[in-house]
Amino acid sequence: MDYKSDIGYRKETLKKLLHNIQKNEDLIIKALYDDFKKPEFEAVVTETSYVISDLKNTIKNITTWSKPKRVFPSLLNFPSSDYIYKEPYGHVLIIAPWNYPFQLALCPLIAAVAAGNRVALKPSELTPHTSAIIAKIIEKTFHINHVEVFEGGVEVSNKLLAQRWDYIFFTGSVAVGKIVAKAAAENLTPVTLELGGKNPCIVDETADLKLAAKRIVWGKFINAGQTCIAPDYVLVQKNMKVNFITYLIEEILKAYGKKIDKSPDFARIINTKNWFRLTNMIQNENVLFGGESDANKLYIAPTLLEEPDLKSPVMKEEIFGPILPILTYETENDIENVVSRYEKPLSFYIFSENNSFTKKLITKYSFGGGSVNDTVIHFSNKRLPFGGVGHSGIGAYHGQLSFDTFSHHKAIVKKGNWLDLPMRYAPYKDKLASIRRILDWL
Ligand code: NAD
Repeated sequence: MDYKSDIGYRKETLKKLLHNIQKNEDLIIKALYDDFKKPEFEAVVTETSYVISDLKNTIKNITTWSKPKRVFPSLLNFPSSDYIYKEPYGHVLIIAPWNYPFQLALCPLIAAVAAGNRVALKPSELTPHTSAIIAKIIEKTFHINHVEVFEGGVEVSNKLLAQRWDYIFFTGSVAVGKIVAKAAAENLTPVTLELGGKNPCIVDETADLKLAAKRIVWGKFINAGQTCIAPDYVLVQKNMKVNFITYLIEEILKAYGKKIDKSPDFARIINTKNWFRLTNMIQNENVLFGGESDANKLYIAPTLLEEPDLKSPVMKEEIFGPILPILTYETENDIENVVSRYEKPLSFYIFSENNSFTKKLITKYSFGGGSVNDTVIHFSNKRLPFGGVGHSGIGAYHGQLSFDTFSHHKAIVKKGNWLDLPMRYAPYKDKLASIRRILDWL
């Protein structure tokens, strides 16, 4: 079992993982449904197929990604050949959240294994069915001294965080992200923190309103709004508000029908605690659509709120549920007054045909990533880095960057011996003028 230096071994175990996931796909989909009625379509598209595709891409590229990369040498070192070696960090800890409990546990794990690490994985306790199937698949696939799953809640997490790790990859809330960062600091352990935030969605007067409404409804209500990159609130140009709301309601009804609680395509809230947190956000607000809820079924309808006060609970924290506040703006200052109240978000969405407006917003505001004239989809391109900035996170992953995240990049210069220029050696007398000329020239 030489996972550290044997690329072939890493590849074989990842192939075995692929086989075991494909074999158990139905059970994974069922576990996701049992945990919070995740619709089958969403389970396949955002969890199993996504992981399978990531796994296939990693298996295909692992040999290339792990090779030392030759880079252009510096003339200062002439003659030399220069390389970046990818070295596994060692023993890494991955802590996963509940909202995409399969994907957000497996994708970092795949990258960590591909890069040659030993892995400890802690899935979320709030999705016990998915956690159990993950544990079963991992146990069947890997030797326990290579990858081990630690099921459980905060106590398990805290015990793991008290140990020394070579890398910690955490996905979850900002509050717990800070706990992880503090624990990591004790041993100067490097971290990736994939966190959340309040993601703005700006709709200007040039936007294709109907299409914008359709794409916002999709990105907001997929997984019942429990998506870290879901639009948190909309800021629509004041004159467009009435039409925009009409389109939003049309699109919600088209997607989920009139009896949304009976729709097989709409997930449930993860637990009672979050159900109360979310229903509390609707109270005292002007509900334009939705608002219905059922504690026993952990159901909250897709809900549109009209211009909530910025000091109200719904505008204070990340919503992370099927509630969409609709705010309006007239000037760019109005946008700034809202957006700049919050920490740097994970995502930012702009619906506009006005290129200079779009460019201005992209460069003016700092955020993890985003899409223009759509929501959420930037997540799906493996050639784009995915991660936050400021309070929405540290580091990024996806595609080759995931492999690189779990690798230390070691710089190596191999010096040739056939020439040894005397310039740098003491005594320095009379050499300064010529070395200055060379450094100026380089
Ligand atoms: P969470 O922070 O409550 O939990 C995440 C993990 O941390 C779980 O495994 C949990 O057991 C553990 N944990 C919880 N409390 C802990 C504590 N006090 N000490 C140590 N460990 C603890 O997050 P969540 O509720 O599972 O997920 C929702 C949050 O995650 C949202 O804020 C969302 O935006 C964010 N998120 C971010 C991404 C991303 O990719 N950036 C993806 C999904 C979710």
